[in-house]
Amino acid sequence: MNVLGIEGTAWNLSISVVNENEVIVAVSDPYTPKEGGIHPREASQHHAEKMPSLLKAIFDRFPKENIDAVAFSQGPGLGPCLRVVGTAARLLSLKLKKPLIGVNHCLAHVEVGRWKTNAKNPVTLYVSGGNSQIIARRGNRYRVFGETLDIGIGNAIDKLARYFGLSHPGGPKIEKLAEDGQKYYPLPYVVKGMDFSFSGMVTAAQRLKGKARLEDIAFSFQETAFAMLTEVTERALAYLGYDEVLLVGGVGVNKRLQVMLRVMCEDRGAKLYTPPAELMGDNGAMIAYTGLLMLKHGYITPLEESFVKPNFRIEEVEIRW
Ligand code: AMP
Ligand code: MG
Repeated sequence: MNVLGIEGTAWNLSISVVNENEVIVAVSDPYTPKEGGIHPREASQHHAEKMPSLLKAIFDRFPKENIDAVAFSQGPGLGPCLRVVGTAARLLSLKLKKPLIGVNHCLAHVEVGRWKTNAKNPVTLYVSGGNSQIIARRGNRYRVFGETLDIGIGNAIDKLARYFGLSHPGGPKIEKLAEDGQKYYPLPYVVKGMDFSFSGMVTAAQRLKGKARLEDIAFSFQETAFAMLTEVTERALAYLGYDEVLLVGGVGVNKRLQVMLRVMCEDRGAKLYTPPAELMGDNGAMIAYTGLLMLKHGYITPLEESFVKPNFRIEEVEIRW
């Protein structure tokens, strides 16, 4: 079975075809803002402009006739971007006369991670631009055990980077700066029950500008934010009695975050799983693969239910596998 998947919830327009065993083709055309952060309308215009050439690039390398279904990220994400992706997917499904499958973007991060690492039943730390959640399966649903109360960790890092005059995306630049950090400045450590919050930390870190080295601010920011995420992941692990942690989302490539989680896992006799970097951030293969899983288990999205869901939650999807 070959499934085509389209991802475009935010910055990355990415299309891929996968089968049960491998990613067959994958092409991406990321949107990078000229200045500031991601602008939803500009991002959606970018996706609309690039969609035809990306689809052509796929069909130049993989015959249309061999596609068995069209999957697309139905949400959560930026409304204007989701509408472009949904429209393209509906058209393609009608044209190819193949079923349409609306995929939950967070579920896709988890499933591609399990696929590529062989983690069986992990506690997943999903850390991306817009989302930050601790997810684990209970029965036939994935449940969110903890999440951000305001902005995603990626957005928090990007905001801090912007304040320093660094271009989007800020994650890799803050990571690089933090490597040369020497002095730790305390920042608000906000964990409430199993949830956490980053916006106060961003403001506090911004106020250090001019008083501390950028390297030390970046270092202090990463140490504080990643300790919060590691603490809550550990608590979920202890509560559930699981022994696997899966790290997914664009922030997951951060080496310092990986080290903190690995140390915590080793202390508890658990194992940390990290998918290959190209499948950590938003990508079309994760949508295609999750679409394939859904198709195999009888899910098809009728046209009248294929509307975009900007606030789509992972708990809403019944897991039949
Ligand atoms: P996603 O939405 O899952 O594609 O993730 C995008 C987010 O990942 C952006 O906010 C990036 O700044 C962030 N990111 C990318 N690379 C790194 C890194 N090395 N360290 C921290 N954050 C990163
Ligand atoms: Mg994502």
